[in-house]
Amino acid sequence: MPNFALSDDVFREAARLYPTPFHLYDEQGIRENARALQHAFAWCDDFKEYFAVKALPNPAILRILREEGCGLDCSSETELMLAEACGFSGGEIMFSANAMPDSEFAHAARLGAYINLDDITHIDILRRCGGVGETVCCRYNPGGDFRIGTEIMGNPGEAKYGFTRPQLLAGLKELKALGARRFGLHAFLSSNNTDDAYYPTLAGLLFETARDLRQETGMDIAFINLSGGVGIPYRPEQRKTDIDAVGEGVRRAYMRVFPEGGVAIKTELGRWMTGPNGWLVSHATHHKDTYRHYIGLDASAVNLMRPAMYGAYHHITVVGKRDMPCDHVYDVTGCLCENNDKFAIQRALPEIQEGDLVVIHDTGAHGFAMGYNYNGRLRSAEILRCADGSFRMIRRAEEPKDYFATLDMDEAAQALGVTR
Ligand SMILES: *Cc1c(COP(=O)(O)O)cnc(C)c1O
Repeated sequence: MPNFALSDDVFREAARLYPTPFHLYDEQGIRENARALQHAFAWCDDFKEYFAVKALPNPAILRILREEGCGLDCSSETELMLAEACGFSGGEIMFSANAMPDSEFAHAARLGAYINLDDITHIDILRRCGGVGETVCCRYNPGGDFRIGTEIMGNPGEAKYGFTRPQLLAGLKELKALGARRFGLHAFLSSNNTDDAYYPTLAGLLFETARDLRQETGMDIAFINLSGGVGIPYRPEQRKTDIDAVGEGVRRAYMRVFPEGGVAIKTELGRWMTGPNGWLVSHATHHKDTYRHYIGLDASAVNLMRPAMYGAYHHITVVGKRDMPCDHVYDVTGCLCENNDKFAIQRALPEIQEGDLVVIHDTGAHGFAMGYNYNGRLRSAEILRCADGSFRMIRRAEEPKDYFATLDMDEAAQALGVTR
């Protein structure tokens, strides 16, 4: 089930201090997850989590994770800049490439980051921009379906990411000829997967593939990067991933393939680390009764796009009404001129009055970060509930001047009070 660690009093107090909507993050919960993950992989001498910056790109959060011993997984130049600004460097940064500008490789190489190539053609880019270092990581796409037992958990064959198996062999030989001595192997085959067998199954595949590639190329294996994808229970009836069981499953696969040890393990969890430790706090501002009953919020898909984009479920509670019967059925909407701007469709909830505080759960990953400015709507503030229970604004809400800042419209800008 979703994370119900915070009481309604916490949301009330935060909403007394800051205008809604805002995302509220729980420092304690984030630290506890980081520690639980370390505990689950404590059997591996050389384990490191590289938090996926894209899930929650806020320096206050990244610094907390750094204190917990995490590195960062970056995939753009601005994410590299964030990492650098927060004091991450060298082997604390993983740079996962995609169809990106060549110059970003050079930037990552300058920071001494591990570079995770997405395609065989990236080898030449890296050679020209940044140079081939001693250790290079490659992303594997095994194609077809990714199954756990008989269940299909993902469709790598339809995914844009990664090298095919023959390309891995050819690519590693080429990297070796260019001076690389050790390789990492990475794959991301299923997203938001709460099955405890996901990481162990993926790990088994990567361990065996890496062992074979070591034999075929004579290169050493530096690390296996299990990437992200470990899921969280967005729905009340879903169970939480048992992270200790996940760590133990990976350990068994490791002992089977690498009984002699010596291969490091890296993860790039985003959602699992921070997802349950964020809440979008909003007020109900409108109600409307037509063919359905609607509750309008002061938040919209601009603040949380997942329901509109993926039809994703996010649990909703009403402050002070958690114990009341869910005997009303609502569509809970934002204000965008876009009919999929709905946080919930035909959801059973307690009766909601205008002015009620409505809390949308599990917004701590891929929430604020996916925000956009459609309809000229502005992104919200982000508030941290510190470990001592106090609150700190870690990002202010956008103002109109932010929305207009990139426009070249001098006269209009002056009239709007935009300074440049
Ligand atoms: C998005 C992403 C992650 C994090 O994914 P989660 O689902 O948040 O765990 C990790 N690695 C890479 C390369 C990604 O693109």
